[in-house]
Amino acid sequence: MAGPLEGRVAAVTGASSGIGAATAVALSQAGAAVAVGARRADRLTALTDRLEGPSLAQGVDVSDEEQARTFVHKAHEELGGLHILVNNAGVMLLGPVAGADTEEWRRMIRVNLLGLLYCTHAALPLIERSGGGDIVNISSVAGRQAGAGGAVYNMTKFGVHGFSEALRQEALHADVRVTVVAPGHVDTELQGHNLNPVVRAGLDRAREQIGEVLAAEDIAEAILHAVTRPRHVCFNEVVVRPTGQSR
Ligand code: NDP
Repeated sequence: MAGPLEGRVAAVTGASSGIGAATAVALSQAGAAVAVGARRADRLTALTDRLEGPSLAQGVDVSDEEQARTFVHKAHEELGGLHILVNNAGVMLLGPVAGADTEEWRRMIRVNLLGLLYCTHAALPLIERSGGGDIVNISSVAGRQAGAGGAVYNMTKFGVHGFSEALRQEALHADVRVTVVAPGHVDTELQGHNLNPVVRAGLDRAREQIGEVLAAEDIAEAILHAVTRPRHVCFNEVVVRPTGQSR
């Protein structure tokens, strides 16, 4: 039996691990042709080897506008159209503002904001030309509620919400749905990039309090659900927390 995304083409950024990899698998199993992008190209090839349908693995640093554009255009050209863009690539580097390494701020702004903007800018006309589709932007509960130690990550994810709502209003006329997915704590590599022992201890404590955290597949399922709704239904915002997570 044909899957609900048969004949659709999807591009997923940050697909070398975590939520992006799980989303690529879910979209592919639903019948979509899937282009996966991230910097670790070897991981992408290992992923596409596991996918049964048509796929494309492309090394890309989304914070480089030219590379982001090339990734999106290659997906469109090689897979025959573009219907779904999942802006998932992201980094979370936590710590107080005072004394912060400002290069970490630049990394988050470049990937979480500029990367998402570059991919969206490249994809929007291609999705329109393909007859409409979906842009799914991965934010976070940190994009709805700010807290000490998360200021710049909060800023980037609040930015994703603001941008997405404005884009939703602009793109609906071309039958392009915009969905923000805001996960709570998901078991991925994301937290591991924080080397500061105080930050790490805080993350470990938060995780202990939650109990069972989400798996990347839980978020992939939410994304798949949003993009397989009938065309008159748009999930504007989806918040998915582990049951035990309070904030
Ligand atoms: P991972 O660290 O497992 O995945 C992040 C992905 O982003 C990797 O594939 C990484 O690939 C990619 N990436 C990072 N920098 C770049 C770049 N410059 N260009 C292209 N790709 C890049 O974490 P998650 O799966 O958890 O994160 C996915 C998204 O989910 C992020 O936007 C994150 O903010 C969000 N999120 C995660 C939560 C969690 O608890 N895990 C909670 C809320 C939101 P590579 O290094 O190969 O480039």
